[in-house]
Amino acid sequence: MRPVHEYRQLYIGGRWRDADGGESILVRSPIDESVIGSVPSATTQDVDDAAIAAQASQESWSRSRALERAEYLRLVARSIRADEELLADQLVSEIGVPSRAVNPMQVAMAASAFEDSAEFIAHESANYTVGNSQVEERPIGPVACIVPWNAPLYQASLKVAAALAAGCTVVLKPSELSSFTAFALARYIDEAGFPPGTFNLVTGRGTPVGEALVRHPSMRMVSFTGSKATGETIARLASVGVKKCALELGGKGAALLADGCDLARAVQDTFWRCMAFSGQTCAATTRMIIPRASAGDVQRMLKRLLEEAIVGDPRHPGTHLGPLISSEQKASVEEFLGLAACQGARPLTYAARSALPAHGYFVLPTVFWDVEPTMRIAQEEIFGPVLSVMIADTQEQAIEIANSTPYGLSNSVWAATSEKAMSIGRQVISGSVYINGGDFNPRAPFGGFGLSGYGRERGGAGVREFRQSVAYHL
Ligand code: NAD
Repeated sequence: MRPVHEYRQLYIGGRWRDADGGESILVRSPIDESVIGSVPSATTQDVDDAAIAAQASQESWSRSRALERAEYLRLVARSIRADEELLADQLVSEIGVPSRAVNPMQVAMAASAFEDSAEFIAHESANYTVGNSQVEERPIGPVACIVPWNAPLYQASLKVAAALAAGCTVVLKPSELSSFTAFALARYIDEAGFPPGTFNLVTGRGTPVGEALVRHPSMRMVSFTGSKATGETIARLASVGVKKCALELGGKGAALLADGCDLARAVQDTFWRCMAFSGQTCAATTRMIIPRASAGDVQRMLKRLLEEAIVGDPRHPGTHLGPLISSEQKASVEEFLGLAACQGARPLTYAARSALPAHGYFVLPTVFWDVEPTMRIAQEEIFGPVLSVMIADTQEQAIEIANSTPYGLSNSVWAATSEKAMSIGRQVISGSVYINGGDFNPRAPFGGFGLSGYGRERGGAGVREFRQSVAYHL
């Protein structure tokens, strides 16, 4: 049977063209394991052409007016919004994200990324004076944007919009597991009439395509989102030629529940922040730290939430948890489940509402009780629907447990008042801290500490990441 989404061409130097070697990568549905499409496997020649095209257009793009760049970005945002349904369908079938979450989480936020970057450059002043010096912020140069599979359109949009807004040209490499929406993005950019070479798309695996891009002498920066292991490799490769890196890596988020907090809200929020997209988000709160006195109540609430969770086909509107992305990811999560039990953690038993489908990479959500902070499930990113509950006898101990992993991406604090929660939040090592269920803000800076990486994305901070200052001393 012919694949449903068959892509044959790369977007390089302002035109669509066949990949050099003619090879392609088959894409499997995580829902039923069937082949749903194919994408070109670029060669190092394709990468070379894309990087050279980006370099050739860098000078003129960096000299374009901010208002002109903002207008291009707004056109892309409009195209994303106009195609919302098509993009949402592609994401559901390609990554298995439940349809109830896909639009706000993945598509609308991608459009906002372009709008927010446009808004920022339309109103900022990139130049300022300090003493006798005038300081100018200049684009760093052509950027390699490499993104993971779990929020492909949003991650790509965050990077591409901010880099283009800053005046940098771009080569985008999406994950080989989820490239479909990158082709749509390239089409919107083409239709918006961006100068040729400003944006280029190459698809394929990390090795050789991603590596060739990072190594390419035309690239002056690598903006990477993905796993810690790949981030380390990229930082090593980028050190040759002294390229700047921005690394958005994994997380092991904690929710700290202090005495007197709104327990029902805190438990529900933490559970869903962990289980959303079957635990496959970097910002998942996969650890819950609770006061001993609340243990009985928390356990009852978690059992109820587990029993209510519907696991199954993500295309059905009622489904909460779809499949994991691949058989490898499923095997890895199952290995963690076995390991946790061996180390003495106890899974909460519950009557699951759904039977797992016969095909596809599904696992049921699991909450582990009696977890020690040093256990591997409490230290490592699992990237599956697994929550670890730990008990703290004092507030100091709770903060110590929260800070006991090498990650620091996104955490939550719940306390009787927001002042109290803020005073705890200030002691948590984390790029984002949600205070008593505060709202997500797509324009606030986002990024990590420690093994969660460095560099910031979103809003003005995201655009500034792609610039360096020049001082003119008068
Ligand atoms: P991954 O590291 O396996 O792959 C990410 C991207 O890097 C893919 O495009 C891949 O092809 C490419 N790649 C792989 N090896 C490469 C190499 N040697 N050189 C260049 N490129 C290479 O990650 P993944 O499995 O796609 O994504 C899951 C990870 O991403 C999790 O750890 C998650 O926490 C993290 N993530 C972080 C954030 C954040 O903002 N901090 C957001 C989403 C996901």
